[in-house]
Amino acid sequence: MALCAVVIASGDELVRGERLDTNGAFLARDLFRVGFTLVRAVLVGDALEPFAEEIRRALGEADLVCLSGGLGPTDDDLTREAVAAALGVVLRESPAAAALVRRSLETRGRPYTPLQARQALLPDGCALLPNPTGTAPGFWCRRGRALLVALPGVPGELEAMWRLPVARLLARECPERAAPAWKILRCFGLGESEVQRRVAAVCPAARPGEIGICAEAWVVAVYLAGWCAARARDVRAALEPNVFGEDDDTLATVLVRALVRRGSTCAVAESLTGGGLGSALTAVPGASGAFRGGTIAYAEAEKEALGVAPEILAVHGAVSAAAAEALAAAARRRHGAELGLATSGYAGPGGGAGGDPVGTVYVAAATAAGCRVRRVWVAGGRETVRQVAVNHALALGLEALEEGFRLEAGKNAPAAGT
Ligand code: ATP
Ligand code: MG
Repeated sequence: MALCAVVIASGDELVRGERLDTNGAFLARDLFRVGFTLVRAVLVGDALEPFAEEIRRALGEADLVCLSGGLGPTDDDLTREAVAAALGVVLRESPAAAALVRRSLETRGRPYTPLQARQALLPDGCALLPNPTGTAPGFWCRRGRALLVALPGVPGELEAMWRLPVARLLARECPERAAPAWKILRCFGLGESEVQRRVAAVCPAARPGEIGICAEAWVVAVYLAGWCAARARDVRAALEPNVFGEDDDTLATVLVRALVRRGSTCAVAESLTGGGLGSALTAVPGASGAFRGGTIAYAEAEKEALGVAPEILAVHGAVSAAAAEALAAAARRRHGAELGLATSGYAGPGGGAGGDPVGTVYVAAATAAGCRVRRVWVAGGRETVRQVAVNHALALGLEALEEGFRLEAGKNAPAAGT
């Protein structure tokens, strides 16, 4: 049986759009995986009464109410007060919470002030949830069929608390959940509608909600649930050779894994992506086992300094197959790596020259066996073009390493997001 959940993320910075609600996204993903149906996710500002009203409403409709943020010591941290108001109870100092706050401040060399002491207050009837990585403790309580958990706003703290104390609490308090069957397949280089056609052919009897297809920067994620999850192997076969990974894989994690498996190394030379390719690779835990380094060669002089022949730039231009190939080869040489990846292109909004419009991107992958280069045209704004260029370079790197994985070269390239 799937239970219902509501997520309430608090903070004026969220309501004003200055900060993205990544906690809500994290909770939404994990709630589904552990057997909850998210029926509503709301943002509330730092005002007591509307916040308390959202909590009251959620307690009346959900099996699980998750609150994010507002547990700290400052005046805009109102979650304790809002829960107390929603439950109609007072706040009381919890000696256990006070001890935890004190200890956590001590390890940070900070004093326990009256302001900090606010964090030891809990709504009457609520129990403590320790915060393994921060100071402000969380808390939980049961109200009728609803379980309420209050979690800190700092994303790393919320995730750590969710993974340990909350997971234990849910195992104990909501044992009737059944986690759904699910599988995510991730492909690159196929258009969304082509993916849809192939998946539907394998899963003709899919029920609503059992297939989800979502494209971003040319990566198409296929979400399979229920009966369709059981057919994941056949769906994967229908999407080959474009499937690069499953579940939480990204192009960068898969490329790093493939390099480490071979005991191989890579390096980058980036023009329009300006470090985005190196950033994606170094974001992968364990990247040091494969990534040697890179150069942002933006100006022509920097491309020449890296070893691109001036004649290539003079004859073909910096945005050209020849320049991208030369950059990839130069990355290998300069950084002593086996695989060199390069990007060059017109990110826009200005620019575009020699018949190549804005959105034209060249990516190249050089190995001891030779160089592959690919030209693509990307619709969309500057950030989209740069992100797609990063993904294309990663995918081409993977293609250069893995004979199994192949972009469908020569086919009409899909537009970004389609
Ligand atoms: P603190 O003890 O640091 O005050 P807190 O539990 O009171 O923690 P907030 O004050 O609401 O949490 O937020 C702390 C930090 O976490 C801020 O930088 C805030 O922007 C960020 N944050 C809060 N909520 C979210 C969210 N839903 N998604 C992403 N970041 C968030
Ligand atoms: Mg705060």
